[in-house]
Amino acid sequence: MEVFGPKYIGHTLDLRTIRAFILDLELNEADTLLLHPDNYDSLVLEYRDMYREPMPQPFYVLGVYIDEADANAIGPLRVPKDRVVVLYDDTRPHRVELARADTTLGDDGRTLYRCTECGGFVTPDGLPITGSLRKQYINWVKTREDPSTVRTVGECCVKG
Ligand SMILES: [Zn+2]
Repeated sequence: MEVFGPKYIGHTLDLRTIRAFILDLELNEADTLLLHPDNYDSLVLEYRDMYREPMPQPFYVLGVYIDEADANAIGPLRVPKDRVVVLYDDTRPHRVELARADTTLGDDGRTLYRCTECGGFVTPDGLPITGSLRKQYINWVKTREDPSTVRTVGECCVKG
């Protein structure tokens, strides 16, 4: 696991800036974004206002786990307010547990297709994979040493 930050990513720390940051840094399903508890709370409220339903738990943006930092943390996992910390290849026990909790795909060498633009999982035809199947794929990637992945331009990111 590698820690990056704390990093200032803009004067508002909302779903839009988080998404842009994840795309900029090309974070993936093995990574975690840590937020200060106050910022995490704002995100929960923003989500509820925007989608008229509670923010799912655990919460992912573009496959990246968004986690609330421990307010009392010291050292590299301390996140100041209005900053973020990236955990590349997050191997903290609760994160690994999370990834393993719902694994139903076998370790069978199946090829995963991912969008070249956003990194999201897609079908071989480039259609975005959503819902529980997407969750399974994330878990699968997390628990495999070297999942074979193919990059393809997904419908999610086809322009014009
Ligand atoms: Zn895409």
